[in-house]
Amino acid sequence: MCYFPTRRQPLLCVYRTGVKWEIEFLAARWVKGTNTMAAQQNGSRSEPEGEFSFSAEPSLEHIRRLQAEFTAERDWSQFHQPRNLLLALVGEVGELAELFQWRGEVAEGLPDWSDADRERVSQELSDVCIYLVELAEKCRVDLPQAVLQKMELNRRKYPASKVHGSSKKYTEYTD
Ligand SMILES: [Mg+2]
Repeated sequence: MCYFPTRRQPLLCVYRTGVKWEIEFLAARWVKGTNTMAAQQNGSRSEPEGEFSFSAEPSLEHIRRLQAEFTAERDWSQFHQPRNLLLALVGEVGELAELFQWRGEVAEGLPDWSDADRERVSQELSDVCIYLVELAEKCRVDLPQAVLQKMELNRRKYPASKVHGSSKKYTEYTD
């Protein structure tokens, strides 16, 4: 029995009940595909280096609600306790790591990767994100706000003026 249903499944299948978002997802895929085809005809990548950004939607809250709907429809909430979700998350990180295994250093943007391998990276990153969001929910962590607070802590822990260009851990710096 598979309690964790997102293995090798595209987001479109996972969220098939979210009709509005499914349509928007398809539209986004179509636009992306059109841009990719145009770029391929021009002999270039669709996203110039240094200009990548995420879409504004969906928010983490929307992803949380979609996943909650997905698990509730299948009566899987009984299996999605924090420990199980953590193990599932680690498993998905392993699946992501497997894609990078034995490749040596990989350049930003994965320029030498096939479209199929890029798609696998996209799917495994999505699995990681889905379980991370669900785990945060089950731990009652407001993830967007928690991330902002942690980034502020990181700024204080690693002042740019002090650590610029250095990879040392904060414990290695002296005042
Ligand atoms: Mg996976």
